[in-house]
Amino acid sequence: MAQTTPNHTQTVSGWAAHDSSGKITPFSFKRRENGENDVTIEILYCGMCHTDIHHVKDDWGITMYPVVPGHEITGIITKVGSNVGKFKIGDRVGVGCLAATCLKCEYCEDSQENYCDQVQFTYNGIFWDGSITYGGYSKMLVADHRYVVRIPDKMAMDRAAPLLCAGITVYTPLKDNNLVDTKGKRIGIIGLGGLGHVAVKFGKAFGHHVTVISTSPSKEQEAKHNLGADVFVLSTDPKQMQERKRTLDFILDTVSAKHSLGSYLELLKVNGTLVIVGAPDKPIDLPAFPMIFGKRTVKGSMIGSIQETQEMMDLCGKHNILSDIEIISTDQINEGLDRLVKNDVKYRFVIDIAGQSSHL
Ligand SMILES: [Zn+2]
Ligand SMILES: [Zn+2]
Repeated sequence: MAQTTPNHTQTVSGWAAHDSSGKITPFSFKRRENGENDVTIEILYCGMCHTDIHHVKDDWGITMYPVVPGHEITGIITKVGSNVGKFKIGDRVGVGCLAATCLKCEYCEDSQENYCDQVQFTYNGIFWDGSITYGGYSKMLVADHRYVVRIPDKMAMDRAAPLLCAGITVYTPLKDNNLVDTKGKRIGIIGLGGLGHVAVKFGKAFGHHVTVISTSPSKEQEAKHNLGADVFVLSTDPKQMQERKRTLDFILDTVSAKHSLGSYLELLKVNGTLVIVGAPDKPIDLPAFPMIFGKRTVKGSMIGSIQETQEMMDLCGKHNILSDIEIISTDQINEGLDRLVKNDVKYRFVIDIAGQSSHL
């Protein structure tokens, strides 16, 4: 049953899952009126993230049904509130995972609001007015302008959408480890999916030597020839892993299936860092010896702040970095989610919410 909150008067068509079967069906619901800090966005495209699957199926036991997923949203501004100075009607914008934060804790004040302990997400969150947030599998969104970024003019809106979650998730660890402004490092990317393929593009655009580490031999051609990776390592082949010991300065681990970090840590030089951005639902095996013997660091990272997301978008515009996508229609959402479970996509599904592609 859809919520009712005072001032939620705008009727929106969207697509929602209503129970843990995860089946998505058309769903009509209400959004708030455009407040003084808000912008209203006509949604053009929405990317499909693995997090969407976890929410529609209630894998994490936190789903508030009906859930309208989607946090890789691009569209056009159709209304601006009286306090909004930085956007105007007609602007091309994007919304990622963040819908609200406290705005006053040390992390919010330091532009690290993605780590605010009162963070509320774009869907399945609770907004300031007490309403449950509904995401981008819908025709229109009302968003506080402080959580909206601008999409550079020449970027394609469909291929830009996945940058709002997948892109920022892999950008921030590169920035935190000084890999955006310093060239010539040897970096490894574990997993070549929605996150990994963007990470390879960033790594090459920022001037690094990039190694892709994967369990599937079929990814080698793709990694080297289509994405420009320098080296491909098949992680199931102990000989290849042995040959690459102590060769990397930094590793980004994008794998969301359960795995052991031991053999990957051996690939790092002394003092190297491995950052986890995939989210396996079971604990990761983390043997102590490769950490101790190589003085290595293992840490995590979750998306990025709005300031970092804007910075990433601007860099993507400058370097012409976009996600590789398969466009699907709103009738194909269930099929898309089923294929995403099997990783059967290159590399991100993007839903054509406004039906633009069919008119091209
Ligand atoms: Zn996501
Ligand atoms: Zn805060």
